[in-house]
Formats: sequence, structure tokens, C-alpha cells
Amino acid sequence: MNSKPKSIWVFGDYRNYFQNRVTLQLLSKAVDLARGINAEVCAVIFGHEVDEYIMEYTAHGADRLLVIDDPALKSYNTERYLALLENLIRQRDPEIILIGATDFGREFAPRLAKRLKTGLSADCIGLDLTEDGLLVQIAPSFGGNMLAEIVTPDHRPQMATVRPGTFKEIPHNYQRMSFVERLPLMKDLPAPRIRLVEYERAAEKEHTIENAAVIVCGGRGLGNKKKFKKLHDLAKVLGGDVGATRPVVYAGWADHAALVGQAGKHIKPKILFSFGISGAIQHTAGLGEADFIVAVNKNPQAAMMKMADVSIVGDAGDVLDALLKGLRKRIRE
Ligand SMILES: Cc1cc2nc3c(=O)[nH]c(=O)nc-3n(C[C@H](O)[C@H](O)[C@H](O)COP(=O)(O)OP(=O)(O)OC[C@H]3O[C@@H](n4cnc5c(N)ncnc54)[C@H](O)[C@@H]3O)c2cc1C
Repeated sequence: MNSKPKSIWVFGDYRNYFQNRVTLQLLSKAVDLARGINAEVCAVIFGHEVDEYIMEYTAHGADRLLVIDDPALKSYNTERYLALLENLIRQRDPEIILIGATDFGREFAPRLAKRLKTGLSADCIGLDLTEDGLLVQIAPSFGGNMLAEIVTPDHRPQMATVRPGTFKEIPHNYQRMSFVERLPLMKDLPAPRIRLVEYERAAEKEHTIENAAVIVCGGRGLGNKKKFKKLHDLAKVLGGDVGATRPVVYAGWADHAALVGQAGKHIKPKILFSFGISGAIQHTAGLGEADFIVAVNKNPQAAMMKMADVSIVGDAGDVLDALLKGLRKRIRE
């Protein structure tokens, strides 16, 4: 019998840290899962001068940190990081590995799974445990028409990439302590075949839809671009952001950055307004953590209306106009 304590690993993707909090969100879920299988939560950090992230990951739930801090790891490099992580996994045999479905994670995780001859569920939108402690990896499948619950009974580690925004990070606690293991670089670390010559960070909005507290989302039921544009007025009055469904993005009423759902962003607003949206599963897959939903649709049977806390049956454009008028009047008073 294996008496070794179980471990859930979270790969530390700290690039773009202030915008992309996926590692913290995964740590939060790992803490939850660890309770169920009596495991420790371990964050893995590769890079150079990464002490800041050691503190952050500890404050957000990591019990143990496996850290390789070396100038050779200054920039993210798939080949090198793969060699390092594969080596550590073979030595320590974790139960579960969670990786953010960032561009890097999407490139990195399948290669790692292949090397380890284990399964990987990509772009999960939920994680759970079976009664006997297997990781349930919930991922859209068959072109997004179904949600599959996938388990990996025979191979280890159980691996999943998870979309940013799927889970809520737990509030930081800087009193938390963790066990930090600083490990040396592997002796036979492969020389990278791809060398980073230069990088330039794309300008990003400080405030992204993924962390907006109020979101006003619009769908095809709004009828045209002009009406959709009014959502921006409402969002401005409410201090929120605008989200969109896929047909609306395809029609050019909104940028791809506003797309909410399986192929877009996962949002977790305190309040979500949904105008003229049917509530297809590919869209609602991105709404899992909205606290309160107000839906407007002319069809009371629409899935979005059933999911909402408040459903208003009516024309989306008319309700939007009335809401804007009422709010502006209240502001003036
Ligand atoms: C692989 C794949 C991935 C996908 N990923 C995404 C994704 O990430 N995000 C996403 O949103 N979609 C995604 N889709 C598309 C998704 O399946 C739906 O087609 C889409 O969400 C529907 O958008 P909608 O609700 O705006 O339009 P519709 O489904 O056409 O719904 C329009 C709604 O508006 C209502 N309506 C009509 N007129 C009015 C009116 N005057 N006033 C009020 N209500 C009115 C209708 O009753 C209806 O409920 C994906 C699809 C696939 C196959």
C-alpha cells in the first residue's frame, strides 16, 4: 500500500499576474479538492527572482512550494519547463496536476501529458471528485453541445487545464505558512531550440470583463448594432462592462474580447444583466459564478430566463431604454 501523502500540484503561471489570476483560482479549487482526498496543495514555480509569487501562492492556499529559481529560467520556455516538470513529477508522483488554460498552458500541458503517458482534459469548466476520490474533469465536448465528466482511473497524474475565470480565488491570507523547497536546476537541462529574442507586452485594459462586478450582456435578440451599443450606456451608468454572445460578435456588434462562454470569457459578476439571450449551454458555461442574474427576453421559456433570478418578459430594446431612462432620472435627482 502506498502510504505517501497525496499531493495536488498547481503549475504557477504568473506572467501577466495582475490581469490573469488563473493560478490563484486553481489554488482555490485545489484547496477544496485537497480536503476531499486528504492531500496537500503544492504550487510549482519556475523562473528567476520569483519570491513575490512564493508569497502570493502561499497566501492563496499553497501548503508547499516547489521552486526552481535560476537565470536560465528567466523567460517561459516550453522545452525547458517540460523537462523540469516531467522530472519532478517522476520523482514525486503527484495525484493531480492543474494548469491554467492560458496560451502557455495550452501548449505545455498536452506535451507533458504525452510524456507522462497519462490523460489530459483540456479547457475544463469544472472540477469535482468521485466518491472514491478520482478527479472529475468537466469539459465541453462534441463541439460544445455536451458537457463531459471525464475521469482518469488508471494513469497518474490526473491532469486538467482549466479556463481562467472558472473558479474564484480565495481571499489572500498573508499569515499563512508554507513549506518552500528550493530545488536546483537539472544538470542535463536541454538547450532550448527556440530562443526568445525580445518580447513586448500587448497593452491590456486594467479592468477586464473577467473581474467586472457588473456586466451587461447582449445577444441576438437586441436586433441590431445600434441597440447593442446602448448596452455601453447602461454599463457606464452602472460602472460595469459589456459582454456578448457569439452571434453578436460574429455580426460585428462587439469585439471578440467581449465574448462570454465556452469560446470566450468566464465571468463572475455580482450582478449580470442579460438582454435578448437564449441561454445556449455554450454561453451559460461562462456564467457559472454570476451571483445574481436579471434576464430580459420576449420568450419566457428561454433557458436564460429560467436560469435568471429575475426574468422580465418583454422587448430587450424597450426594457433597456426604460432602464436607462429611469437610472438617468435617478442620477439627476
Ligand atoms: C463549439 C461552439 C462554441 C460556442 N461558444 C459560444 C460562446 O463562447 N459564447 C456564446 O455566446 N455562444 C457560443 N456558441 C453559440 C451558442 O451555441 C449559441 O448559438 C449562442 O449563444 C446564441 O446566442 P444568442 O442567445 O445571442 O442568440 P439566439 O440563440 O438566437 O437567441 C436570441 C434570443 O433573443 C430572444 N429575442 C428575440 N427577439 C427579442 C426581442 N425583441 N426582445 C427580447 N428578446 C428577444 C429570443 O427569444 C432568443 O431567446 C458556441 C457554439 C458552438 C457550436
